[in-house]
Amino acid sequence: MLKVTVLGCGASVGVPSLKYGWGECNSCNSKNCRTRSSIIVDNDNTSLLVDMSPDLRQQLLRYGSHKIDGVFVTHMHFDHVNGINELRPLFFENDSSLQIYGREEVMKDLRKSFSYLCEPHTSADPIYKPYISTNVVEDEFIIGDMVGICFDQDHGCSKSTGIRIGNFAYSTDVMHLGDYAISRLQDLDVWIVGCISREWRPSHANLDQVLEWVNILKPKMTFLTHMSISMDYETLLMELPANVQPAYDQMEIILLANDAVHSTV
Ligand SMILES: [Zn+2]
Ligand SMILES: [Zn+2]
Repeated sequence: MLKVTVLGCGASVGVPSLKYGWGECNSCNSKNCRTRSSIIVDNDNTSLLVDMSPDLRQQLLRYGSHKIDGVFVTHMHFDHVNGINELRPLFFENDSSLQIYGREEVMKDLRKSFSYLCEPHTSADPIYKPYISTNVVEDEFIIGDMVGICFDQDHGCSKSTGIRIGNFAYSTDVMHLGDYAISRLQDLDVWIVGCISREWRPSHANLDQVLEWVNILKPKMTFLTHMSISMDYETLLMELPANVQPAYDQMEIILLANDAVHSTV
């Protein structure tokens, strides 16, 4: 069994956003209240956090468990890494390190941006103990007993990394999918994909693009994430086909060994 929990499914400025508020989203529906995007994937033994949103502290407090065996970073945009400091209390009292995984350039940028969390202190009793270890992933990654693969995605002006674990895949912050990514996204039970808005955007797929991909890839279930204030939950739920749904914060998706998929409120 694989359990995927959507910790947050909002675009980079969240919903509601500063200045623009709720936009098209009904403020009375709590499923429209979206923190920045990240997920946790659990099998019975291993918990993998994907991205560290600026809302990570709040997300993990409401999630309950703070067991994290590794973190996969999809790319270096602030809404996917700036929660890195929030994990510090988990390492106050032990000598282990937080194992972070990602592409070589992402790990390099991470070490540069957060060098004070990575570089060993020379002092015998450092006030601020570094707790980050970075791991470069080329194709396959193994964290505990969880095995995954990754693939590059075109994110407009930059690249992001998609991941697949079993028949589940996560593709946030993507504008175009190349042939290799498409080949990695075949025969999915569940696909969570970034879908920022109905309108065209320069670095993210919109709803028309995502529905086109769904027609090609035919995952059993597709859930939309990284949504902006134009994406009202109830409106989308009513207009989309049954195999495509908007995600919401704290949504749990269970993938059973017999290919069945359950999502919970
Ligand atoms: Zn983002
Ligand atoms: Zn991004």
